[in-house]
Amino acid sequence: MTCLCGKELTYNEAGLSKKFLADGQLLCLHCLAKRLDVTEERLKEKIEEFLRAGCKLFVKE
Ligand SMILES: [Zn+2]
Repeated sequence: MTCLCGKELTYNEAGLSKKFLADGQLLCLHCLAKRLDVTEERLKEKIEEFLRAGCKLFVKE
């Protein structure tokens, strides 16, 4: 899986895209942050939150 920008996606980046993008597009952290108008740091925090919630779309990196 690769992002629109050509970057190879990590498992967690794909997971975030599935959580936040209704159109099924998969984006890297950088592009997703731009799309959602949030910081990449905030998205990393969300990954931690989803991990703690036991969401299977995310793995500990
Ligand atoms: Zn990208």
